[in-house]
Amino acid sequence: MLFKCSVCGFIWDGDDAPDKCPKCGAPKEKFNKLDDDVAGLVLKSRETNDIHMKLAVHLEIIADLAKRGLEIKLDPGCVDVFEKAQKAAYELRQMVKAELATHMTKQKWG
Ligand SMILES: [Zn+2]
Repeated sequence: MLFKCSVCGFIWDGDDAPDKCPKCGAPKEKFNKLDDDVAGLVLKSRETNDIHMKLAVHLEIIADLAKRGLEIKLDPGCVDVFEKAQKAAYELRQMVKAELATHMTKQKWG
């Protein structure tokens, strides 16, 4: 079962709510058990959100590599590839962030 702290939003997995919130220290009474449908959404979205966050890390690495390549400017072919990599990494990172923001507002988080 999942329990959510009504003060800070911390989600707790267990048979019962914790004695106090690990994040904000709110007492047990501040925790609400999530409905089965909401809990199902949260559980299903956990791995997807983790994949999105890992993607964001890799895209940042791609953006850094492209920047380094653009600074070297060996030849037009290299510059073309690095510019495309930089643009694609930027756009994909923004898409990842937009998707994560949507998940947070639709309870697909926790
Ligand atoms: Zn809390």
